[in-house]
Amino acid sequence: MLLERFPFLVPDVRDLIEILIVAFVFYRLLLFLAGTRAFQILLGLLLLVLVYFAAVIFRLDMITTLLGLIFTYGAFAAVVVFQPELRQALARLGRARAIRFLANTDQHAVADEVADAVSRLARNGTGAIIAVEGEVSLNDYLEAGTEMQANASADLLATIFTPYSPLHDGAVIVRGNQIVAAGCVLPLTQFPVTDKSLGTRHRAALGLSEESDAIVVVVSEETSKISIAVRGMLRRGVTADQVREALAGRSRPALALSETSSKASPA
Ligand code: ATP
Ligand code: MG
Repeated sequence: MLLERFPFLVPDVRDLIEILIVAFVFYRLLLFLAGTRAFQILLGLLLLVLVYFAAVIFRLDMITTLLGLIFTYGAFAAVVVFQPELRQALARLGRARAIRFLANTDQHAVADEVADAVSRLARNGTGAIIAVEGEVSLNDYLEAGTEMQANASADLLATIFTPYSPLHDGAVIVRGNQIVAAGCVLPLTQFPVTDKSLGTRHRAALGLSEESDAIVVVVSEETSKISIAVRGMLRRGVTADQVREALAGRSRPALALSETSSKASPA
């Protein structure tokens, strides 16, 4: 038999474990990348690799050489371009799972408060945008707003978005069970939005959900509808209960463990 002639081909337990670990890492990596801009760039790279192999097979020497050059220097360029993502990923690697587990306990309370707030805001037809931080730090977006440290209560959230209050313009950022900033300017989505009823508030929610794993809840001033943006997808016309489920249903890292700031000066 083939396997008997090549004993090294017989899988042993170690191979199995190795395969499982690698599969798991790839799975987490894809989960992390799915829907982000990095993913689009990866798809582009994949296309280049395919072209490269096609060029090798058909002996198109000039294309092979040029693409080879691009890959050599592109590796260095990628490290520079993806520096924030790499830093985030490494920071996440170093986090203690146990603390994340502990921190989850009050995540339900925050979900309740946010859901309560958006249902009130929607009833009153008050526009709002609340970004709940995930594992990716939103530190970059705090600066433009007004930083604060306050327990995330429905009352406070509703108060902040009251029209003509100084902080009603822009987004509130929630980290753990704290409101860490209000009046923040979020990045608009780069993708074309065909629906004209989606203005800058909804585009900002989409934009942030593309660049991070934050869950962004929007209340429309025009339609009083609640929407949730997650991973570059906008779910429109959701209920407060669905907001609660979306926020409570995910594990979140510790609030106490402050993320390594991505604002640090470049190396
Ligand atoms: P609505 O349905 O509530 O009108 P919209 O998607 O049509 O929402 P706009 O009417 O363009 O959005 O903007 C309304 C508000 O959204 C602004 O007054 C501002 O408070 C907020 N907003 C706009 N852009 C951003 C941004 N980049 N980051 C955070 N908040 C924003
Ligand atoms: Mg509008």
